[in-house]
Amino acid sequence: MERGIRIADLFKEEEKWPGKTAVVQGWVKTRRDSRAGVGFIELNDGSNLKGVQIVVELEGRDYSGLLGQITTGSAILVEGLVAASPGKGQSIELRAERIEIYGRAEAETYPLQKKRHSFEYLRRIAHLRPRTNTIGAAARVRSRLSFAIHRFFQDRGFHYIHTPVITASDCEGAGETFRVTTLDPARPVSGQTEDPYKSDFFARPAFLTVSGQLQAEIYALALGQVYTFGPTFRAENSNTSRHLAEFWMVEPEMAFHDLEDDLEVALAFIKYLIEVVLGECAQEAEFFNRFIEPGLIERLENAVRRSSEVVTYTEAVDILSKSGEKFAFPVEWGCDFQAEHERYLTEKVFGRPVAILNFPRALKPFYMRVNDDQKTVAAMDILVPGIGEIIGGSQREERLDVLLEQMSMKGIPKEDYRWYIELREFGSAPHSGFGLGLERLVQFVTGLPNIRETIPFPRTPGHAEF
Ligand code: ATP
Ligand code: MN
Repeated sequence: MERGIRIADLFKEEEKWPGKTAVVQGWVKTRRDSRAGVGFIELNDGSNLKGVQIVVELEGRDYSGLLGQITTGSAILVEGLVAASPGKGQSIELRAERIEIYGRAEAETYPLQKKRHSFEYLRRIAHLRPRTNTIGAAARVRSRLSFAIHRFFQDRGFHYIHTPVITASDCEGAGETFRVTTLDPARPVSGQTEDPYKSDFFARPAFLTVSGQLQAEIYALALGQVYTFGPTFRAENSNTSRHLAEFWMVEPEMAFHDLEDDLEVALAFIKYLIEVVLGECAQEAEFFNRFIEPGLIERLENAVRRSSEVVTYTEAVDILSKSGEKFAFPVEWGCDFQAEHERYLTEKVFGRPVAILNFPRALKPFYMRVNDDQKTVAAMDILVPGIGEIIGGSQREERLDVLLEQMSMKGIPKEDYRWYIELREFGSAPHSGFGLGLERLVQFVTGLPNIRETIPFPRTPGHAEF
């Protein structure tokens, strides 16, 4: 079929276009007719934020009937002469010579009207919401960031490992797993009480992965530096603005790296990704700065320019308990930080990203390396303003005896982790890694208040439509 040029490409070489003819295809954002007999269509094809303005001379041409059908939401083709635009805010426009309509949208019933819709409303029309400026921009930022994540690691010699989506291990030990089964809960298998899993697909309990870390460790202890990047599932019933039941996590794992090295990579990684947004998604960043979070660009530039703060858990407890701030959850050594604590530290105390190291052993999973004080583990959380935790990582326990002790203490069945234990019996080596939630990153760089706007089809308790 007839194929035009992507609108973003028109603007890439905008000097060379005036005087030439171009064909573009997209969806009508708005249309207005001036009294002077000129019609204006704002056309967007999703390739960029702004789209392009189409000018239609109504006089002397038989556009009047056609133009009436070109309502907001219609899909059309326009062939026209590219001209330098006299209007402010855009350099070139298209003077229509031919217009074709692919699909109309009824003006009265089109769910996206010109006014600003609430995000809650847009979630109910997730099949149309990517046509809005905000959701479209978030999708483009997410795409650039995903690619940049691969580039960051590939440029540094990391290997991309596809870890399984279906696993038998609950890595975080938090029990927030989705069960994978082919058994029908409506039709229980009778007479199978001794082993209820016998007739199930995997003949054992199986789950959707909560993290690819343990499998990434296997490959790190063979290929040195690896990362996994894929969907992750947590059945946490937390209806917050920063939790999803299905989200994407990137997890690098590095042999011969201790916690300090791990932190260094993580901080460089965050900076790199912010620079990608500022440099490669400038239009979107300006849009979010203007309409979603005033001051966003300054906050991001700040995070790149200034070095991040690094404190220990014990220091953080000290700062919080001396702050005089009334928290819903009181702070004392041994407590897990809540979002309110994380945000207070990164927003009020430091005003930039903060890394917190060495958490109490009891708070963290069995695989984290026990520190010499025996009370803490070599863990790190990186917190950012507006969100709280964006990265969780640690040095892993490479000593067989300490690992076994940790597993006993935390009630982890050793027979299920035979392979994990063997990695400490055969050529064990210090290693570390971390996990970054892609959606929290998108939230951080866009200022979107709710994580549900950072992923095309959010899965949360009670919501798995589309
Ligand atoms: P939180 O305390 O905020 O629930 P967590 O301690 O459970 O986070 P980790 O298990 O360390 O998080 O996971 C690593 C990263 O994955 C987090 O730093 C965060 O960016 C992301 N993440 C974790 N849970 C979710 C979720 N339910 N939805 C979206 N991202 C998540
Ligand atoms: Mn969690």
